[in-house]
Amino acid sequence: MFGPRRCAMTVTATFRFYAELNDFLALERRGRDFACRCARAATTKHMIEALGVPHTEVELLLVDGESVGFDRVLRDGERVAVYPQCESLDVTPLLRVRNHALRVTRFVADAHLGGLAHLLRMTGFDTLYDNNIHDDEIERLAATQGRIVLTRDRDLLKRRGITHGCYVRALRSELQLHEVFDRLDLARSARPFTRCLRCNTPLRAVDKAQIEARLPPRVRERHERFTVCDGCAGIFWEGTHWQRMRRLVESLGAAVA
Ligand SMILES: [Zn+2]
Repeated sequence: MFGPRRCAMTVTATFRFYAELNDFLALERRGRDFACRCARAATTKHMIEALGVPHTEVELLLVDGESVGFDRVLRDGERVAVYPQCESLDVTPLLRVRNHALRVTRFVADAHLGGLAHLLRMTGFDTLYDNNIHDDEIERLAATQGRIVLTRDRDLLKRRGITHGCYVRALRSELQLHEVFDRLDLARSARPFTRCLRCNTPLRAVDKAQIEARLPPRVRERHERFTVCDGCAGIFWEGTHWQRMRRLVESLGAAVA
């Protein structure tokens, strides 16, 4: 007696996910159409996330060939096509799910992405990071300060307060930096060596004479250009670490001033 009633509570839609969005799906659902029962009044966002894909990874949604937003309620028999951000896919005439870009590119990284956070600071991007930061705090910072969340935790990206996020696939921090640069097209807005790696404060140039007394003798002999951090009082010069970082920056296609 419950059968017909249960049917009335659900609708069945067909889903297809494209490109790297398939990585989030169960194996048997990758690269093909599959039918899925949805609660009546379920939105596209709800269903996509229930299937394992964080909404932050989605750039375009088509329902029966028509572009829709995350709040679209699914109806019985509809076909849902879900696309990631993709440079080669020309969707300009279509409505993207996220119609506002954040005005300033700044980040908050989760507690496991310290290496990436430091490298983003090195390339000049305002990146908050703390190895004790909690998910609630990440969500709050993303919502109140308009920050892009960087994480390898897909459940974090499903949180309501997070509109812009980036699921990081690579495991090594230098590869993660390349991945984020490619996905968000950061090379042109990078300002390498203008921000403190330790504390995220913008650096300022300083005359050697002002800080000479604090320098190790070998550094005093060999270097002329220095910057200081007003946040942690650090002094920076173009030493061997800087040269290694410079090669990394150049491999990203970003200019070093
Ligand atoms: Zn500092």
